[in-house]
Amino acid sequence: MTELASGLLTWFIKHGRKNLPWQSSPPNGYHVWLSEVMLQQTQVKTVVDYFNSFIKKFPDITSLANASEDDVMAAWAGLGYYSRAQNLHKTAQIISSLYSGIFPKTYLEIMALPGVGRSTAGAILSLTFNLPHAILDGNVKRVLSRYHRVAGHYSSSGVMKELWLLAEKHTPEKHNAQYTQAIMDVGATVCTPRNPDCKRCPISKNCGAFIYNQQDDYPNKKTKKIKPERSVVFLIYKNEKGEVHLKKRPKKGIWGGLWSFIECADNELEIEEKIISHNPNAKILESLETFKHSFSHFTLWISPIIVSSPGGANDYYKTNDISVGMPAPVKKIIQSFDLINHA
Ligand code: SF4
Repeated sequence: MTELASGLLTWFIKHGRKNLPWQSSPPNGYHVWLSEVMLQQTQVKTVVDYFNSFIKKFPDITSLANASEDDVMAAWAGLGYYSRAQNLHKTAQIISSLYSGIFPKTYLEIMALPGVGRSTAGAILSLTFNLPHAILDGNVKRVLSRYHRVAGHYSSSGVMKELWLLAEKHTPEKHNAQYTQAIMDVGATVCTPRNPDCKRCPISKNCGAFIYNQQDDYPNKKTKKIKPERSVVFLIYKNEKGEVHLKKRPKKGIWGGLWSFIECADNELEIEEKIISHNPNAKILESLETFKHSFSHFTLWISPIIVSSPGGANDYYKTNDISVGMPAPVKKIIQSFDLINHA
């Protein structure tokens, strides 16, 4: 066993996280998988509430498989990266039909599931079955980059190859589940992105970044690109009952599968044409303030326009009683829209 692995295992006994809601004895493959997917782009403290309410709604893989896509998307709404929820749903259906609702146990079977990559597969095998598989999530990448002073950014395939080799080298044959949890925990609570707490770190003795006082230099940063900007108009059709129209978005693309307002490009001609294409009697009532919504790859400027929609009936919802999954900015508008209605 490497010194890094034995240092982390000793540290885990006293300091490791053992009471996260997806940890149980014996481990539950569904819970581990769900938490891994939720944690891919989101921090533990945010995931805990989402995880608990998701499990309450869908207590096992079969109930998730049998749920409607809208129910799954509604339970996921707010976590972002909605293709993860679509893949989760598809995977539950596959496990339900091919494996009788029980999580498969081999690397190849798990890797064949939609949305499961190498690190997620490794985490499931390690944390659920205690099998010696390496993981390389964001926390582990940071710890290994600093410990070995790995030069270059993760976006380079060479850097990723090197990190995977290191992750595999340190992965122990025994006590694998504890090791995996320990390296994730050290990354999340000690070797943090800013101001790592090296004095409390169980592997500082051999950590290159600590020895050379270069913690801020690793992992190497990517040269910053300016984020592109886009703008869009949301058309909020409102009927005589004060209900608003929502449309299910296509599965692919941003907010895939969620329910949103009809949208169009931000220019007068297009707005006019679009408005009457949904309802020939529709008229602009009010333009709300433009606001910004940030995605990881671009910034979206959203201009909401409230439009009267006489006779509008299909897919119109009461603003205080919407059960379908909506993107965060749509929710935000609907909440403020309520205020306008009651002003
Ligand atoms: S010694 Fe510091 S930089 Fe090195 S792994 Fe530990 S916390 Fe991270």
